[in-house]
Amino acid sequence: MERVDIMGFDNFVGQEKAVEIFKRGLSRKKLNHAYLLYGSEERGKLTFAFLAARAINCLNSQEGACGDCVSCQKIEKGLHPDVTIISPQGNNIKIEQLRQAKAQASYRPNEGEKKVIVIKEAHLMSLPAANSLLKILEEPPFYLVFILITSDLALMPYTIVSRCQLVPFNQVPANEIFQFLKEHEQLGSFPEEQLKTAATLADGSIGQAIKIVSSTEWQERRKRYFQMSRDIVLNSDTDIFSCIEELMEEEKILDFFDFLESILRDCLVYQSTEEESLIINIDYLQEIKGIKNKSYRKLLKMIREVERFKKNSGLPLNKRLALEALLVKLKG
Ligand SMILES: [Zn+2]
Repeated sequence: MERVDIMGFDNFVGQEKAVEIFKRGLSRKKLNHAYLLYGSEERGKLTFAFLAARAINCLNSQEGACGDCVSCQKIEKGLHPDVTIISPQGNNIKIEQLRQAKAQASYRPNEGEKKVIVIKEAHLMSLPAANSLLKILEEPPFYLVFILITSDLALMPYTIVSRCQLVPFNQVPANEIFQFLKEHEQLGSFPEEQLKTAATLADGSIGQAIKIVSSTEWQERRKRYFQMSRDIVLNSDTDIFSCIEELMEEEKILDFFDFLESILRDCLVYQSTEEESLIINIDYLQEIKGIKNKSYRKLLKMIREVERFKKNSGLPLNKRLALEALLVKLKG
């Protein structure tokens, strides 16, 4: 048979380790009973979990997902009786959800090779839910595979972590992301500059990079943020406060301050090194290079003020007052 069977896994650029772990388990028919996929958001963990569920139950292939068979199709549409997805309800995953899944898992697969239970944001399991999972992880039926997903490994109970095979989702280097985007069927035709920017800003995540390139809303928002940031850095006379109030209404205020901080950081780095390659916001390279009239100390002070504001923003303070105070400090 053609090697279409491993199609899918090979698309996980930069996640060779995760792919290798699964392919090994599949090809030797020695799947672990529990995997824990961990790494920051937007690194493709959920997509990978679905692919793994398909590969485990694919009717055509022993080492991957064909994408065409009844089983692959059903899993993709969320209709497969042997694949269960558990997501947080509200702020956590409740014991009742685990109980239901365990009840379903108490009998053998209907159609597939194995029953697969995917637990999204597994670190949000309540303590009773985690304890209930622990019991089944200690004595799992042979036909059951758990795929746990977390963006915060440190919050997972050690007793659970120690019973899973750990599958890391790493930060993908920007040049690999750029290469991926360039070769992408739909996105490859975008201007190279835009692809480079997305790869640099994606924080090691292919998913994030794709989102950046394909979202015009994202580009527009960025334009607006840059305008405001420049006005703040250059102390222009525009009415920054009313712009910021708008953002407050859109609940984008922290988003904006993250952006402002990254611009300030870029200005600081460029002023002290004159090294273009260290600038993160490369789509504003020329503008950042052009901001020259701020001293190193002043920029550093601004960064600290923004950081302090962000740190306190979770507190029940009067946001308007806090913002006014911040703007005065940034201007001063
Ligand atoms: Zn298949």
